[in-house]
Formats: sequence, structure tokens, C-alpha cells
Amino acid sequence: MNILIVNAGSSSLKYQLLDMEKEKVIAKGNCEKIGLADPFISYKHSGKEEIFKGAKNHEEAIKKVLDILVDKKNGVIKSFDEINAIGHRVVMGGWIFKESTLIDDKVIEEIDKLSEMAPLHNPAHVLCMRACKKVMPSVPQVAVFDTSFHTTMPEKAYMYAIKYEDYEKYHIRRYGAHGTSHRYVVEELAKVLKKDVKDVNAITCHIGNGSSITAIKNGKSVDTSMGLTPLQGVVMGTRSGDIDPTVVQFLCSHKKQTVDEVLTYLNKECGLLGVSGVSSDHRETTKASDGGNKRAKLALDLLAYSVKKYIGSYLAVLNGTDAIVFTGGIGENSKEAREQILENMETLGIVLDKEKNNNFKRGQVELISAKNSKIKVYVIPTDEELMMARDTKEIVKKLKKSK
Ligand code: AMP
Repeated sequence: MNILIVNAGSSSLKYQLLDMEKEKVIAKGNCEKIGLADPFISYKHSGKEEIFKGAKNHEEAIKKVLDILVDKKNGVIKSFDEINAIGHRVVMGGWIFKESTLIDDKVIEEIDKLSEMAPLHNPAHVLCMRACKKVMPSVPQVAVFDTSFHTTMPEKAYMYAIKYEDYEKYHIRRYGAHGTSHRYVVEELAKVLKKDVKDVNAITCHIGNGSSITAIKNGKSVDTSMGLTPLQGVVMGTRSGDIDPTVVQFLCSHKKQTVDEVLTYLNKECGLLGVSGVSSDHRETTKASDGGNKRAKLALDLLAYSVKKYIGSYLAVLNGTDAIVFTGGIGENSKEAREQILENMETLGIVLDKEKNNNFKRGQVELISAKNSKIKVYVIPTDEELMMARDTKEIVKKLKKSK
């Protein structure tokens, strides 16, 4: 079964075609700058990369991707019939979508209604689902939500202590994000621990440009660091993470900016970038810090300290844990970040094996805690597209059986 995975943003559309018998990527790429000047489409397959002219809108982008995939010279499939299903990433499923869902008109409408809470993403997902339906009407489509995994959080974890009537009326609460990644790594962790995922307790740290930490009890999310939006939580590449809301009022008044402008600032100009003044990129900030840049060092300290605090609070929430998992661009690749986050946590049962932390082969699952560490520490590379394709496959298989 071949599954096309689509991850649409407001001006981009990432795609991946997977052979789900072998769980192997056949081809992948990105339609960038959709609707902007100089749009282009990248296409990677069989170790090669090509660039094609881009698209004016999402419908054209999908059509172009399909044409590229079936192209006589460089295509990887002979016809559209070789695409058995499409899986779409959806950023915001709110309180409505508790699991991945077969897409029909009603589902598209509901996703559209949730746009207020993800204005850059949900409208793009909807455009893309409609475009796929138009181009391939008979191919089943599945929506996989970033928020679904966190719908198991108890009220005390997802509620903000605002007036209950406002929570009810406006659905203001914690939704979290990166759910597909947290779910993927905990399922992989269960395999390594040789346990049923239902018996696994873990703290999963997805640390990349955007980052979130999740407390997982019996395989289910019971708390997560991101909130109503992905601005809340730990310090990120350009996002401030947790902040006293009064800071917004202060900035509005001192910088003569609107709330929207300050929120854009907190999302795009803060975090590693804002504190270091160097870059939102962890590698660049680390380089600057190693070269003696004090603000770069401070930015890295803030990031590591914020992650450490979430790990500490989730250890309390879970009453201990089987494992801590690092994933995401920084979590998987930065030995410095992992070491800094976990230093001085021995009395809590966490001891890193520095040798293993420094010298493991990237791209594979690795245990990096010391033998005497009560809590195991793993690096597990995430694969959100594979998780999405697994969900899509399951749903389509059930659909076929019910016919
Ligand atoms: P992501 O958003 O998951 O793609 O992660 C992006 C972040 O991962 C950026 O801050 C990168 O600097 C960081 N990153 C990627 N590779 C490395 C590496 N080898 N060492 C340190 N950080 C890395």
C-alpha cells in the first residue's frame, strides 16, 4: 500500500510517498513559497534531488506533485492508481478530534471551524484536503491531528484557572502540539523496553525549533508543555515559551505596539534568537557561545533550564518514570543540550553516560544513561510522517473491511 503524506502550511506543502508494506520512503519534497514570488518544488528520490517550478495555490501544488510522481522520466509510480490513500497533518483538532479520522465534508468543515486557534495552518489544511478531493476523488483521505495525543490529559492539566464560563464559551484551554511525534517515540520506546505501550511511563522531550515536553502515563499523554497555542512551554528557537501575561501589556505600552504585534514578536523574535542576538538555530548559538559570546551562552542556559524544570515537574506528576526520551533536531543531535539539561539530577535517579551521550551513531535509537541510572535516558529519532502513514493505513484497512 502506497500512502501520500501531506503537511500543508500557509505557503508550503511538504509531501512524502511511502511504501507501507516496507515502511520505506519512495519520494519526498516540499512545495515552497506557494502563491508568492519564485515558488518552487523540491523532489527527492533514489538519492537524487530535483527542483521544479512551483505553484500559485494549494490545488496547483497538489496537481504538480502528482504530475512529478507519475512523470515518465523521473516519476516513481506509473499512475495515480498506485496511491492508495492520503494522510494529512492537521495542527489543531481542538477538543473535537480525539484520534486520526477519515476525511469527509463534515470533517473538513469542523477542521475549518477550528481555524481561529490555528489561523496559519488549519485553513491551509482545508484547502489541501479539498484540492486532493478534486484531483483524486476516489482516494480515501485521513486527517492526523497534532493535538489528538493530548486529548487524554485530565481536566486539571489542560484547564487554565480562568473563569469557567469563559473556558466553556471560548474553549480556552491547553491543547498541546507535536502529538504525533510524542506518540511515535513512546511507541518506539515501548518496543525497546519490550513492553506494551499501555505499560510505559515516560517523559518525552521533543526539542527542535519548536519544542514540547510531554508526561506520558500508561502510554497516554497526561500533561504537555505547549498550551492553547505552541507559544507556551519551554524556550524555543524564536518563541519565548512561558511568560507572565503582564509582559504583553508592558511591551504594548512601552513599544507602542498592538497585542497582535507583541504576540508576533513573542513567536518570531524571542527565544534563542532574541536572547542571543545571534540566531534561532541551536548550532549557530552553540558556536557563538563556544567562541565566548555571553548572550549566546545565556540563551542556551535558558533553554536547558526550562526543559529541566518541565522534566522535574513531570517526574512529580508521574511519581517517577521509566524513561526520558530526547527527540527533534536538538534532542537528537545536540549532546551539549542533553548534558546541560540532565546535569545534577543524580538524586532524582538520572545519570547520563557521557561517553555514550557523546559518541553514538546519529539516526538510531540509543540508550545514553549510565548503568546506575534508575531512570533510563534514550535518544529516539522521531518520524512523524511514518506515524501518520501508519494511522492512515490502519483506517483505510478498516474501511476496506467494512465495505
Ligand atoms: P527541528 O525543528 O526538529 O528540525 O530542529 C531544528 C533545530 O535542531 C535547530 O535549532 C538546529 O540547530 C538543531 N540541530 C540540527 N542538527 C543539529 C546538530 N547536529 N547539533 C545541534 N543542533 C542541531
